Amino acid sequence: MNTSQSKSLFQEASRYIPGGVNSPVRAFKSVGGDPIFMDHAKGAYLYDADGNRYIDYIASWGPMIMGHAWAPVIEAVQKAAERSTSFGAPTEMEIELARLIVESIPNVERIRMVNSGTEATMSAIRLARGFTGKNKFIKFAGNYHGHGDSFLIKAGSGAVTLGHPSSPGVTPGTAQDTLLAEYNDLEGVKALVQANPNEIAAIILEPIPGNMGCILPEAGFIEGLRELCTQENILLIFDEVMTGFRMGFGGAQEALGIEADLVTYGKVIGAGLPVGAYGGREDIMEYVAPNGPVYQAGTLSGNPIAMTAGYTLLKYLKEHPEVYQDLESKCASIEEGLHPLLKAKGLPYQINRKGSMISLHFSDQAIRDFESAKSGDNDYFKKFFHGMLQNGVYLPPSAYESWFLNAALSDQDIEQSLEAAQKSLELL
Ligand code: PMP
Repeated sequence: MNTSQSKSLFQEASRYIPGGVNSPVRAFKSVGGDPIFMDHAKGAYLYDADGNRYIDYIASWGPMIMGHAWAPVIEAVQKAAERSTSFGAPTEMEIELARLIVESIPNVERIRMVNSGTEATMSAIRLARGFTGKNKFIKFAGNYHGHGDSFLIKAGSGAVTLGHPSSPGVTPGTAQDTLLAEYNDLEGVKALVQANPNEIAAIILEPIPGNMGCILPEAGFIEGLRELCTQENILLIFDEVMTGFRMGFGGAQEALGIEADLVTYGKVIGAGLPVGAYGGREDIMEYVAPNGPVYQAGTLSGNPIAMTAGYTLLKYLKEHPEVYQDLESKCASIEEGLHPLLKAKGLPYQINRKGSMISLHFSDQAIRDFESAKSGDNDYFKKFFHGMLQNGVYLPPSAYESWFLNAALSDQDIEQSLEAAQKSLELL
C-alpha cells in the first residue's frame, strides 16, 4: 500500500504542530509507524491522502454512528452555516437539542452545552464540588475523562498509551484531591470513602469504560456505587462521552438501569462537530451560572452548526431504535467471526464487547480493570493493527481503545474485515 503522501504530510505537519498531530493518539506512537492522513470519508469508509480506502472502526472515536458524511447531517449543517457560523447569543436550535435530551433521559432535567468532553467533565466536577461544598472526588484507574488537570491521574486512552499515566504540569495540590480507585472494586471505593469522611464531592466513572479497551461492569459494582453515593451524600457522575446515545439512545444509564446524579456527554451528541454537554437533576444544575454561583461559560457553546448537527442525528436515532439493534448485531458478527480465527492461532486473547463497542486484548487474563488491561501483549497488537491497516481496515491505533462500529458497515465490509483479521494474525 502506497502511503507516501501521508508520510510527506506528516513530515510537513511536524514542522508546525507538536508531534504533527492535534491529539496524541493519532500519532501512532503506541503502534509505531507514521500516521495516515485522511482526505475524505463516506459511510463506513475512510479515504487517505494517497487514495487508499479503509473500512473504519473508529467512527471519529465514536461520533459517526451513522457513518461518515451522513446526508441528513450534511444538509442540515450546510443550511445552518448560511445563517451564520456563530452568534454569541441564544438561538432556538439550542432549545430543540436540549428539549430532545431532557424529554428522553429521565434524570437529565437541565443540560448545559459545552465544546468538548473535556469541558463537560471539568464542569461537572466543579459543579459537584460547588453543590456539595466538598473538595475531593474519586476516579478509576484507566478511566479517561479528558485532559482536565484533576483527571490526569492514572488516566486511560492516550495518557496510558504514551506511558505517562500522570502528566507533568499537574500540581501536587490538584492531584491530592483526586482519589484513585480500581474499576470493579467496590470494596476499595468504600474504603476510600471511609478514609475521607465528608470530604468526597463525587465519584466519576465511565460506566462502561472504553479507554482501556472495552470493559464491562461486574454484577453489583455500579449498583453498589449508586447506593454508596446516596448514603454518603456524594454525587455519582456518569461520564457518558463515549456511551451516551451509543449504548442505545438512553446510553449506559439505560443499558445498566442505573441513574446518575450528573451525566456528561460528547461525541455522538455533536455528530462529529465539537460538542460536549453536562446535565442532571434540576436542583444541582440550578447551581450553574447565571442562576447559581458555579461559574462556567463558553464563547462558542451552543454553536448553531454543532447544535443543528447534533439535533439532526439524535432526532433520527430516537425515532429509529432499530439502528441500535443493527449495530449490536454487526458487532456480534465481528466478535463471533474473530473467535475461531484467534482460537486457531492459539495465542491467548480476550474479547470484550458491549453494544457497538468491542476490544481485543492479547492476554490470558480476563480484562476487568486497568491492571488486567495492561497485561495485554502490545507487540501482538501492533502487528495485528498494521496487518489490518495494510489490508484496508482502520482500527484504533492503540490496544487501550475501544473499536466503534457505525451503521453504514455492510455485511460484506464485516466479512472483508474478518478476512483481513485472518491475514493479520498470520503476521503474529
Ligand atoms: N470522557 C470520555 C469517556 C472520553 O472517552 C473522552 C474522549 N475520548 C473524553 C471524556 C474527553 O472528550 P474530548 O476529547 O471531547 O475532550
